[in-house]
Amino acid sequence: MLTSIKDRSVIVTGGSKGIGRGIARVFAAQGANVAVAARGEESGKAACDEINAAGGNATFYPCDVSNWDSVRNMVDAVAKANGGIDVMCANAGAFPQTKMVDMDPAEWDQVMATNLRSAFFSVKACIPHFEKAGKGRVVLTSSITGPVTGFPGWSHYGASKAGQLGFLKTAAMELSKYNTTINAVMPGNIYTEGLQDLGQEYLDTMAASIPLKRLGAVEDIGNAALFFASDEAAYITGQTIVVDGGQILPESLEAIAEI
Ligand code: NAP
Repeated sequence: MLTSIKDRSVIVTGGSKGIGRGIARVFAAQGANVAVAARGEESGKAACDEINAAGGNATFYPCDVSNWDSVRNMVDAVAKANGGIDVMCANAGAFPQTKMVDMDPAEWDQVMATNLRSAFFSVKACIPHFEKAGKGRVVLTSSITGPVTGFPGWSHYGASKAGQLGFLKTAAMELSKYNTTINAVMPGNIYTEGLQDLGQEYLDTMAASIPLKRLGAVEDIGNAALFFASDEAAYITGQTIVVDGGQILPESLEAIAEI
């Protein structure tokens, strides 16, 4: 049993859909005061309505994580409304699938801005609040794609997710000054709106290649994020946890066929 995080101020970027929505639900179910940050107002408010109808506490904040002013304004507004920032879940991301031969350089930059520059912005904007409180928690949503595996069409995405882990190491050292930890969850294939866009064939092939024989649920990532954000994880920083149903374990097609 983890120490209660009731009333803690938690930001979830990309909290309007998919994994972020799952993270927001998990933290809200534990009594946290959740800020859902994303661009789209309709889906952001819908996510908050769902949480609030279930007895939780969530508020939508419009934000483009690739834009510094937008992130700083959002973080400061949440801190003002909720009395500070206890946890930043920097989760928002995008994964357009384009092979290098067809990729416009602008798409590379956009993916880097949305997935990697955003991690820096999300952490930097929270530092004054962590410093003031003398404590804080950051949880990044990285991926197995990039740090561990490769997949055609995701060179930019993989680089951005591996880049997050490079950022993590030095960020952990700098944030220790504020008694703040930063860790990353590395999801495998999690059933989300974004993944559904890749088509049923992709989803079926992926599920068949996972030892636990199913895609992950968004709450599987939310629960890992909750642990990193807990008081019990106070001495863990700069670390990662893979949450993938064993997806990265098989050495070959034969190995997965054996089970
Ligand atoms: P998703 O269903 O497409 O949801 C993405 C979320 O991010 C939405 O809330 C979206 O809202 C928000 N977002 C995108 N660009 C944004 C921006 N510029 N500013 C603010 N918010 C933005 O994606 P998902 O599958 O849940 O993925 C979430 C995270 O998990 C990503 O970082 C992804 O790389 C990572 N991940 C996912 C999987 C998976 O299997 N699903 C696996 C490994 C890692 P708006 O569009 O309204 O802004």
